[in-house]
Amino acid sequence: MRTALAVLGMVVVSAWACGQSPRASSAASALSGERAMDYVRAQVAFGPRPPGSPQLEKCRQFIEKELRSFGYSVEDDAFTAETPYGPIRMHNLIARKGDGARGAIALASHYDTKLMEGKNFVGANDAGSSTGLLLELARVLASSKDPVDYWFLFLDGEEAFVEWSTFDSTYGSRHLARRWQKEGIAKKIRALILLDMIGDKDLDIFYETNSTRWLMDLVWETAQKAGLKDILSPIRTAVEDDHLPFLDAGIPSVDIIDLNFGPQNSYHHTLADTLDKVSPESLEKSGKLVLALLQALNNAAAR
Ligand SMILES: [Zn+2]
Repeated sequence: MRTALAVLGMVVVSAWACGQSPRASSAASALSGERAMDYVRAQVAFGPRPPGSPQLEKCRQFIEKELRSFGYSVEDDAFTAETPYGPIRMHNLIARKGDGARGAIALASHYDTKLMEGKNFVGANDAGSSTGLLLELARVLASSKDPVDYWFLFLDGEEAFVEWSTFDSTYGSRHLARRWQKEGIAKKIRALILLDMIGDKDLDIFYETNSTRWLMDLVWETAQKAGLKDILSPIRTAVEDDHLPFLDAGIPSVDIIDLNFGPQNSYHHTLADTLDKVSPESLEKSGKLVLALLQALNNAAAR
């Protein structure tokens, strides 16, 4: 993803909404940062995973197998992307239980890693961490009794091949958002929660200003009520990421992202993005934040 603006400043914390704190759900007690970390390790073991590579194919098979073992049906949303390297076959994976007739909340992460030719870029944090956590969330939410369907999107081709632009980035999300809008599926989705780089040992989640305002504010309120204030960053900035195409399709969308990876973000898209920079504690905190956010969304819908 790319930061469009580097506006630093203190976040204006919105007034506390009345209402109960999000209840700790059984999913929250089942969530395991260690387990999410195992999923990160499994991805890194495949090596660099750029779109169209045999390593990403193996990674995709691993993700799909896990999702099926949790009882989801998995759609392979395959398409051919026109990239600066010519046409490349890409695959979004969509895990579902339920057709969304009662409304759906989509949770998303990209699972490709940035192409760095001749280099062993394994992307432990980008995008191993968010992909690993998304799998763990799919596991704990598989038995959910919540009055909404949860859909899990593993998006291909988020990274730019050459230089980030509208046309060279977010291939998977642009394809899926367009398709969902055409097929009338977009309107079933109450909210889309995108995760990116959320395994950083030194976790600080940005207030991302391209996100739907009420949803980003809800992330902030929820984190504070859930005792996760320490993972909120004072940085407020706009990030271009996989949420933008879904916003264009009319879906309220939020990007939960830590774009301060290493000193001055110096580990981002470098060979320093390795397993030792990611921690089970951060994965667990990010996961707890997402589960509390889902609870808050369900509470709001019930009122
Ligand atoms: Zn990246």
